[in-house]
Amino acid sequence: MTQAPGPRRAEGGFPVVGIIGGGQLARMSQPPAINLSITLSVLAESETASAALVTPHAPVGDHTDLEVVRAFARHVDVITFDHEHVPPQVISALIDDGVPVHPGPEALLHAQDKIVMRRRLTELGIPCPRWTAAQTAADVAAFGEEIGWPVIAKTPRGGYDGKGVRRISSPEEVTDWLELVGQDGPMREGVLLEEAVDFVRELAVMVGRSPSGQAATWPVVETVQTNSICTEVIAPAPGLDDDLATRIGEAALRIAGELGVTGVMAVELFEVRDGETGGAAYLVNELAMRPHNSGHWTIDGAVTSQFEQHLRAVLDLPLGDPSARQEWTVMANVLGGEHPDLYPTYRHLMARDPGLKIHLYGKGVRPGRKLGHVTVTGDGDLEALRERARHAADYLQGVIDE
Ligand code: ADP
Repeated sequence: MTQAPGPRRAEGGFPVVGIIGGGQLARMSQPPAINLSITLSVLAESETASAALVTPHAPVGDHTDLEVVRAFARHVDVITFDHEHVPPQVISALIDDGVPVHPGPEALLHAQDKIVMRRRLTELGIPCPRWTAAQTAADVAAFGEEIGWPVIAKTPRGGYDGKGVRRISSPEEVTDWLELVGQDGPMREGVLLEEAVDFVRELAVMVGRSPSGQAATWPVVETVQTNSICTEVIAPAPGLDDDLATRIGEAALRIAGELGVTGVMAVELFEVRDGETGGAAYLVNELAMRPHNSGHWTIDGAVTSQFEQHLRAVLDLPLGDPSARQEWTVMANVLGGEHPDLYPTYRHLMARDPGLKIHLYGKGVRPGRKLGHVTVTGDGDLEALRERARHAADYLQGVIDE
């Protein structure tokens, strides 16, 4: 059998980075890869996947099929991910084959399984919402009575954009999930229950860490969710207490170090008022071990973007400077709306706001689908920047027409 041709690499000893998954994160890795003369290769879901459209070597294949992933890995120097759905046993098999994989399966498990993550962060003394893994309706009832209804119930695996999160006031509201406990699947270890946190706002911090152990955090940002989907990110989080920002950065570095994270990781948090002192405090919500929506602002707003940092980290190169370039960066997500064609919106948006940066991911329009984002950066009037970003996202979505 002849081996399928691999990616073409640049002369001069430059590596090929293989990304499993052809989504927008792999796509946004392409500009820094081009600048550094690093070749990307993508194991894509389809020929028209977001990254497959901009990557010459993008074979289509199933990321859960070990032989498919093995064949893909044969052509690359390091494997990393566009998403967190590659089974741990597939990753371990690659490592046994001698392929460098970043992040590794043990670190990645903390982004794949929320019970594993809660258990580990609790052991490390990182502040989290109170939680338990419920096996039965009696467990759910006991937790609700102990900490007060409503409580937040989560599927430990496979949730995203709030799918797999329920605010419940009785065990009956998770009967369907409890039936799956113990079976192979997302609920194997139980249903994750958490106290419903009365947060001030949601925050996130990104950290990059290399296999050599060098690590750096970007400024802490505020994330704004609408219907459980992140719609806006403000960098840095306005008015954030300096001491809290420092503590959050330290926690992110500690988590990255303790878990052995390689690549970039997002730590999503709740800002809360400390019950005893009334001071500003945080609880960790969840971890993502890849470039993340809360870090898209770094493309236009930081000296080193999360995508460049991820490439540097997985290749064990020295990390870049994560500092912000300007006082503020505002990112607004563009979700699928009324227009099937987005290109015709460019003329008006570009004429109206020459400082606006538009990033679209090459995806077809479907209602609610994340199609891209826009960014504005500047000094001074934050509300004016937010208004510009909001306007552009609304116009692209067809919510407004001028
Ligand atoms: P996903 O993996 O789907 O992103 P998350 O755990 O981030 O799920 O939850 C989605 C949203 O649900 C969060 O951004 C937050 O608004 C809300 N949420 C999650 N956990 C809690 C909690 N313990 N208390 C209050 N709100 C929560």
